Amino acid sequence: MPTDSAPRPVTLTAFLGVAGFALLITIVRFKSGQDWVPILDSANLVIHEAGHPIVGLFSHRLMVYGGTLFQLLFPALVTFHFKRGGDAVGYVFGLVWLGENLLNVARYMADARTHLLPLVGGGEHDWSEIFSRWGVLDSDTAIAGFTAFLGWSLMAAAPARLFKAWLDTSQNGV
Ligand SMILES: [Zn+2]
Repeated sequence: MPTDSAPRPVTLTAFLGVAGFALLITIVRFKSGQDWVPILDSANLVIHEAGHPIVGLFSHRLMVYGGTLFQLLFPALVTFHFKRGGDAVGYVFGLVWLGENLLNVARYMADARTHLLPLVGGGEHDWSEIFSRWGVLDSDTAIAGFTAFLGWSLMAAAPARLFKAWLDTSQNGV
């Protein structure tokens, strides 16, 4: 039974599964024509929407941050959970999900001035409000571009890291 100090060995199947997942959501996202991954982004949206009222319980002013905070916090917690348990595959899965969520956040950020995206619940536009507070509304697409870059990097680097873990495993003859 693996323990915290003895990570589970990574199999080629596991690597292909995670890499395939990252590749699949990339293709689906591009093919959607709306930079949207069905099911996954709907789940992200549900978590996002739950974040606003929960943060709102503590601070009305910070409520606008709650959506993005929660949608990033969830995959981060999943990642942390698997990392702590020595599960490299679950860990990388979490990182891919986190990266994909950053793309979702970037998509919303880039809309701060144009307001082309449909808003759930018809409330205020999170990033119009946040960027206005910060005085950077004119830089919305630049910040979105950087955020998307982080997301893509994570989605590419995480499976690559797993590939390296598999190589190490197979070289050790485990
Ligand atoms: Zn929101």
